[in-house]
Amino acid sequence: MRKKIVAGNWKMNLNLQEGVALATELKAALAADAPNCDVVICTPFIHLATVAGVVEGTVIGLGAENCADKEKGAYTGEVSAAQVKSTGAQYVILGHSERRAYYGETAEILKEKVNLALANGLKVIFCIGEVLEEREAGKQNEVVGAQLAGSLYDLTAEQMKNIILAYEPVWAIGTGKTATSDQAQDMHAFIRGEICKKFGAEVAEQTSILYGGSCKPSNAKDIFSKPDVDGGLIGGAALKCADFKGIIDAWKA
Ligand code: PEP
Repeated sequence: MRKKIVAGNWKMNLNLQEGVALATELKAALAADAPNCDVVICTPFIHLATVAGVVEGTVIGLGAENCADKEKGAYTGEVSAAQVKSTGAQYVILGHSERRAYYGETAEILKEKVNLALANGLKVIFCIGEVLEEREAGKQNEVVGAQLAGSLYDLTAEQMKNIILAYEPVWAIGTGKTATSDQAQDMHAFIRGEICKKFGAEVAEQTSILYGGSCKPSNAKDIFSKPDVDGGLIGGAALKCADFKGIIDAWKA
């Protein structure tokens, strides 16, 4: 049985005190009403060590939103996978479309980041997804297939067990425009098929594939009801405990 996961991506929001308050509120909400899925919050680097203390011993996993493509050394301002791991975090988001678009992260750079994250014992939430023009041209499968191949296909089947995929159509991120549950299912089934071709049926069956893009409590149940959708990567709605909890609760009957 593959894992059902709801992961939050706080992006560059919340100061440290606000982040600690949100994590504390979420911890109380999930202690009072246990989730039916894995829950992860991915926070800015500066929050990690403090939030790790808040969520320690709870059901909440912790992740970073990025890490460096270099092991260590003279890379001013960068944060390595080993440094992320040392905060107590267990996950890292890599390949988010905002990193690809605004910071020039190529498939090659992401390949390095994935390798370093895995080598340091982090689980990777690897994001893939097409922009609007690519979807309108019917090229979404080609684009997503190339993103998978470009950064993940040198991994072993064993390493793939520590990869969670997040399909995030770029046109749906932060726009309020969600993919339909059928569009999500079609793409997730395509992705699972590609993983099966490359790594075999066992890995494909075990790989959790999350949907991301304007997911909210009102649409999560419909999206999560699809057989190849194993949860969500949540941006805006992860910043309010009630909204994030509402999405987590979509996994309840
Ligand atoms: C994201 O950026 O990962 C995301 C899914 O954002 P939002 O939920 O705000 O669309």
